[in-house]
Amino acid sequence: MARISIDLKNGDLANQASETIIGIDLGTTNSLVAYVIEGKAVAVKDNKNNKTLVPSILHLKEESGFVVGAEAHEMLVTDPANTIYSVKRLLGKSYHDLESVQTILGYEVIDDGSESLVKIKVRNKFYTPTELSAEILKALKIRVEAELGSTVSKAVITVPAYFNDAQRQATRDAGKLAGLDVLRIINEPTAASLAYGLGQKDEQIIAVYDLGGGTFDISILQIQDGVFEVLATNGDTFLGGDDFDRLIVDFWRKEYQLSDSKIFSGKSAGQRLRLLAEKAKKHFSSENTFQSNLDGTEFMLTKQQFEQLITPLVDKTIDCCRQALSDAKLETKDIQHIVMVGGSTRVDFVKQRVGAFFKKTVYDNIDPDEVVALGAAIQADILAGNQKDVLLLDITPLSLGIETMGGLMDTIIPRNTKVPSKAGRQYTTSIDGQKNLKIAVFQGERDLVTNNRKLGEFVLRNIPPMPAGLPKIEVQFIINADGILKVKAKELRSGTEQAIDIKPTYGISEEDMGRMLLDSIQNASSDMAARAILEAKNEANHILLSTDKFLEQNDSVLSDLEIEEIRSLQSNLKSASDGNDKDLINSAIQQLNDYSAPIAHKVMDLVIRKAMKGQKV
Ligand code: ADP
Ligand code: MG
Repeated sequence: MARISIDLKNGDLANQASETIIGIDLGTTNSLVAYVIEGKAVAVKDNKNNKTLVPSILHLKEESGFVVGAEAHEMLVTDPANTIYSVKRLLGKSYHDLESVQTILGYEVIDDGSESLVKIKVRNKFYTPTELSAEILKALKIRVEAELGSTVSKAVITVPAYFNDAQRQATRDAGKLAGLDVLRIINEPTAASLAYGLGQKDEQIIAVYDLGGGTFDISILQIQDGVFEVLATNGDTFLGGDDFDRLIVDFWRKEYQLSDSKIFSGKSAGQRLRLLAEKAKKHFSSENTFQSNLDGTEFMLTKQQFEQLITPLVDKTIDCCRQALSDAKLETKDIQHIVMVGGSTRVDFVKQRVGAFFKKTVYDNIDPDEVVALGAAIQADILAGNQKDVLLLDITPLSLGIETMGGLMDTIIPRNTKVPSKAGRQYTTSIDGQKNLKIAVFQGERDLVTNNRKLGEFVLRNIPPMPAGLPKIEVQFIINADGILKVKAKELRSGTEQAIDIKPTYGISEEDMGRMLLDSIQNASSDMAARAILEAKNEANHILLSTDKFLEQNDSVLSDLEIEEIRSLQSNLKSASDGNDKDLINSAIQQLNDYSAPIAHKVMDLVIRKAMKGQKV
């Protein structure tokens, strides 16, 4: 059954309001969990190391199963074969998708021949990326439960905007395996925007620049009445802060000729050098020079050298931004805000370059590591019904549409559509020179609007006079996250527009809703008959009008007999369409058509022949 809360004070959700719904950022490099307390989103810290970030790394112990996070991170150096990282890169993927990923991972990704989805072999057992992601989610669940002192069972989890259905489903399944009911999967850039409070105001377009450990994503979002729409995404799945570290390591290896040194050729030495490089990189967030001793060698780097090293990579991210903008058919001036996400956006040089490209100051005052999880927590809080005045609506319980010719219901958003949601359709006029068009909005499953529930109506005025069928009227339905429906109508040729706000479920009880659905099933066949009659009547009306036009325009070429016969068949059809016998109407349509079609052809030939002779038509 649809989860709907009409009145939070009486609704059943009020009873559940005590259970916290958590927000999770399941990252490639790091993951974290957050929740809203007293109206504020906070990320949960580990009580051991006081950090909010949990490295997305798993280590399988000989006997006691998986350890996740910082503890597993350490094993990356000492026991790499049984330590797994970057599982997110494999989520929802088949062997087919895999070639490029496999080469960069240090553990065994295998084709066990049984299924098409990839598996990972650790200590002679096979694990799916979904199972491994579930282990990370379990660790996060335990962490937040320890802090809250109560169990949690519901979550919102974020995914990259470019994730396809299989990857989203795999994320959902991982949640289920971890004992979490995943109420929503939301896009990471959307979550980051929510954390910055973007989305409440009027229509705006924003760019979310996410540079993490191993991946770069740029997303262009349009926000309208709380509905987030991804206009374009771009990025590089193999570009991130880890590459910055590698560039520093390469620089040092050359500078200090480490390839000749025995000390720095071992595997664990490589890891230690990489960690030192990461330390240097982070150092430049506050200092201009770095100096440190490792095994007797003095390692040095200036901030300027670092910026020179990473310039080609940062250039690459800017190219992606340019491409995303062009895909969205936008220019930098169309972007109102830039949101920075991911640990690597702490690098000053990155911020400067992105700001310079978009010619705007970037949003960076929320911790870029936490911003996605914080946004997920805010979305969770909205779903929990804790945000004041927010009408919760997960899905539309009944179809929403408008009345079209003859009182027919034309559904624009079908029932069970997830919200927020946006849909539209084009209509036209049925009468020549029609200046006003009434848009009546209905809710329900029946074919005739009289059997559905009217939610409201408005009139689109001042349509410039045009022949019937020429105006292009776009009707848009937008349901925002709090269940408010906005209906807009716009005549595209002239730009005339009009809109209203409606609360679609206000005042309908679950009982009423059930009755409306049942009604629609029980009356399906009578509805179909009624629809058929109305459609026949609409058709008759249309033909009568166009025949009038035909007679008027071709008065000079038609014989009196022809005109008389057509008029008589017209009046025949007119009286049939006043009744309710659809077969009678259809046969009258047929008779009129049968008689006038050959005449129409004849007239057409005449017109063409005249034209060929160079005469004015
Ligand atoms: P993901 O979204 O891929 O899980 P994160 O957003 O957690 O990744 O980013 C991790 C990256 O951020 C790492 O490469 C890390 O070195 C980098 N990072 C963290 N803090 C800083 C800093 N102060 N300066 C530069 N890079 C940083
Ligand atoms: Mg991330």
